[in-house]
Amino acid sequence: MPVSAARSAREILVNLHDVMAARSNAQAKLNSVVEIIGEALDSEVCSIYLLREGVLELFATRGLDPAAVHVTKLAMGEGLVGTIAQHNEVLNLDEAASHPDFAYKPETGEDRYHSFAGVPIIRRERAVGVLAVQHADPRRYEDVEIEALQTVAMVLSELIANAGLIDQASPRDRPQSTASTRIPGQKLVDGMAAGCAVFHQPRIHIEHTVAEDTEAERHRVYAAFDKMREQIDRIAREAEFGVGDEHQEVIATYKMFAYDEGWARRINEAIDSGLTAEAAIERVQQRTRQRMREIDDPLLADRMHDLEDLSNRLLRIVSGQMGTAAQMGLRQDTILIARNLGPAELLEYDRRRLKGVVLEEGSLTAHVTIVARAMGVPVLGRVRDVRRLIAEGDLLLLDVTEGTLTVRPTSGMEEAFEAKLAARQKRKAAYAALRDVAPETKDGHRLTVMVNAGLRDDVAALDVTGADGIGLFRTEFQFLVSATLPQRERQQRLYREVLDAAGARPVIFRTVDIGGDKALPYLIHAEDEENPAMGWRALRLALERDGLMKAQARALLEAAAGRTLNVMFPMVSEAWEFDEARALFEKQRDFLASRNKRLPLEVNYGAMLEVPALAYQLDLLLPSVDFLSIGTNDLTQFLFAADRANPKLAERYDWLSTSILRFLRRVAVPAAQAGVPVGVCGEMGGRPLEAMALIGIGIDRLSITPAAVGPVKAMIRSLDRGALTAFMDELLSRPPRDLRGALARWAAEQGVELA
Ligand code: PEP
Ligand code: MG
Repeated sequence: MPVSAARSAREILVNLHDVMAARSNAQAKLNSVVEIIGEALDSEVCSIYLLREGVLELFATRGLDPAAVHVTKLAMGEGLVGTIAQHNEVLNLDEAASHPDFAYKPETGEDRYHSFAGVPIIRRERAVGVLAVQHADPRRYEDVEIEALQTVAMVLSELIANAGLIDQASPRDRPQSTASTRIPGQKLVDGMAAGCAVFHQPRIHIEHTVAEDTEAERHRVYAAFDKMREQIDRIAREAEFGVGDEHQEVIATYKMFAYDEGWARRINEAIDSGLTAEAAIERVQQRTRQRMREIDDPLLADRMHDLEDLSNRLLRIVSGQMGTAAQMGLRQDTILIARNLGPAELLEYDRRRLKGVVLEEGSLTAHVTIVARAMGVPVLGRVRDVRRLIAEGDLLLLDVTEGTLTVRPTSGMEEAFEAKLAARQKRKAAYAALRDVAPETKDGHRLTVMVNAGLRDDVAALDVTGADGIGLFRTEFQFLVSATLPQRERQQRLYREVLDAAGARPVIFRTVDIGGDKALPYLIHAEDEENPAMGWRALRLALERDGLMKAQARALLEAAAGRTLNVMFPMVSEAWEFDEARALFEKQRDFLASRNKRLPLEVNYGAMLEVPALAYQLDLLLPSVDFLSIGTNDLTQFLFAADRANPKLAERYDWLSTSILRFLRRVAVPAAQAGVPVGVCGEMGGRPLEAMALIGIGIDRLSITPAAVGPVKAMIRSLDRGALTAFMDELLSRPPRDLRGALARWAAEQGVELA
């Protein structure tokens, strides 16, 4: 907060302090508050709306018609005030009436006022009211004024809660019904689990927001910072982590924030404005949350969650309300619920009782997701409205495979869940039994089934599944979970560990696929690209910024000393790009040789085919590649011009479509003629029916998600490849509209096992 913001907030708070301390009733206090704020911000109007019985009621105003007080009411989402409360957001408008959500309330006489600024009054992360100012001149309020309004809104939240103006057990805090509900979410870590709802964060009640003694508050925060840093250092020392270094990366980021001077400074500035230590921490946290909502970059948002985790910790320390659910201990099988969790917080839970995690936020690349995956705890993310729909202790059924959370299930639902769980376990056992069985078709064709991986711990999947190797090691994962650029030595260590763990089984390393939507804040400051998937990413970026690629080439070559190195390049669009990338590696190899370094016994170079244009240069490419790997995730989005991340399009274009299968066959056939092995490493290959179709057009190498190895092997072992090839030839020459249906029917007739 700039000094001037602190000052204007401080002036208001000094005046508010007297109001708060006065013995007058709550309504009189609110009346004084609107006067003080209106005066300080030079606003003709200042109004307070509070949430009562689900609607926002005008409680106090300076400037609007006094007859409107307790008369004007707005529903959540109605008008500007309702919009602010519903979305928990700030509005700052020079012309209120031109905003699409504007709703005119004639009884207020507000038509004279043009400018409008409003902030939510937040209690327990929910808007319980709105504080708004209006002015006759059309002007936008300054940032410092908005800051001051937000600070005042915090104080107001204390005042109205203490005065009982809002229900303490407001209906929005309690589940609205006790009926069963099913809530959808995003699949973050696959699995199923049943348990009782435990909220990670028992609510911290902030008793006082306006400081009596600013220096004393400052010391309380300093002491709390010291204690928090001690805790984080201890967690870093004590946590038992996996063998890989990615967890250490996570904790390193965490430590970086704990010692972040900028954060401490912002809290200090909030104290300067007259807030107590607790209120200052909360105020900075609110601002971070607001920024997070505005940020579109999921990676950066993840890092912000780490900061929020620490902020909660600091708040608990300073308020003496220490316990998270972890510290109080879990007493039964638990599904943990949190808005978000930091990795360190997750690690504090008793792993025997923690069965699943439900996050209101969360994302696939978040640190906590990575840690949960390593712990084997299923996680469902982006689950809405948990506080409204779930009460502590409710029975929950978490089914990440289906992407749902069932709250207070009926006995019928419980039985169905148990049955599904049992079937899942049985299937898992059956698939586990296939571990040492080769993926060979009934007519004797030995196919290759490998797994996709990206983190050190993923390598364990090789032993669990009995896969033939790692067909796609996404090296950018190491970059994505790091707070800083992984230096060559660190890259090399990871690659060596992966090769050691894989033993005789091949590993195909893909050089980093970053850029575009995977911008790394510490590496490139990507300009805003309109189509990041088609942007400056992967090999395009790597060839231009070749320092990164050279370092990676050295790391890979040195890690594979004395063994075979398989490396492939992402997003090759023209044959010359592959040639350049290969030449870059060869140059590094020559350099290492000139230094008498140990070299790989052989290096195989492959290209990913995921940009359709490359298919028209196969004659140029095939003579120089050792293998091809088709990335159907990207390929599909480019072939159909359909963003792979857009859920609206997810179901629209089928992998089992004539265009895709014909396209893939046109690649597979000449590759086979040229003696170049070709595989598929996109998600498509992990679905048994899709995998069957791929085999039918001549693909005999698949690299898939580990959980799919069992089902795909089972399919392969029940398949007659010769019969399938004949059927597919026929099918693709006269394709029916419902190709998927035709394939499924054929599989059923032939007794092909499809999970
Ligand atoms: C693909 O595009 O199919 C692929 C395997 O790579 P990624 O999903 O990492 O883009
Ligand atoms: Mg790709």
